[in-house]
Amino acid sequence: MMVIPGIYRVDGVRGGNVYILSSKEGLTIIDTGLPGNDSRIISYLEDVLGSDPEDVIYIILTHGHLDHSGSLPELADITGAKVVVHEKEVEYIRSKVFFGGDFNPDILLVGGEQLDIFGQFKVIHAPGHTDGSIVLWKPGDILITGDVLITNKEGRLELPKKEYTKDEEKEKIAVKELTKLDFLIILPGHGPPILEKARDLLLSLAASL
Ligand SMILES: [Zn+2]
Ligand SMILES: [Zn+2]
Repeated sequence: MMVIPGIYRVDGVRGGNVYILSSKEGLTIIDTGLPGNDSRIISYLEDVLGSDPEDVIYIILTHGHLDHSGSLPELADITGAKVVVHEKEVEYIRSKVFFGGDFNPDILLVGGEQLDIFGQFKVIHAPGHTDGSIVLWKPGDILITGDVLITNKEGRLELPKKEYTKDEEKEKIAVKELTKLDFLIILPGHGPPILEKARDLLLSLAASL
């Protein structure tokens, strides 16, 4: 589905949400779903966007969990895109996704970087769910949250399940920090995007923690 002009959520992916951002610089894929979703993602960008795999310039992972990183090896091969992850997720991804083999991301994040994708996004380090979880923020506009914030089937904003989160207290602090940002929409790691009153919904969730 097209979320807003230029931003797509790939339909039918197993695992976390996969977003494709399309701008004049090229395409950026955010997260890759469970293993085995590579051909679905490539078909989507060919059939729906009319693009080629070589048009993908970046693959960014919000964090290393397998439902987000699972199809990374194949997608990186097929597209030749630069792989971008937080430095604290590298070892986990190397062990779980590359089975201890070679994994050398092209760009290692620590937080605070500006990425020239779809205008400009700022990288926010938001540890808790995992040590290297990131949120991507386009000021005044978009928050891409990975599993720091998800929505349930009814579209309600919530935290990920405790059993999947490494440090719940840090996760809550990270969510409260996000209330300082201004944005209009939230693209969560699971569940439907929030396109209306997103900041109000975050404020009330954060107040309940
Ligand atoms: Zn997830
Ligand atoms: Zn996760």
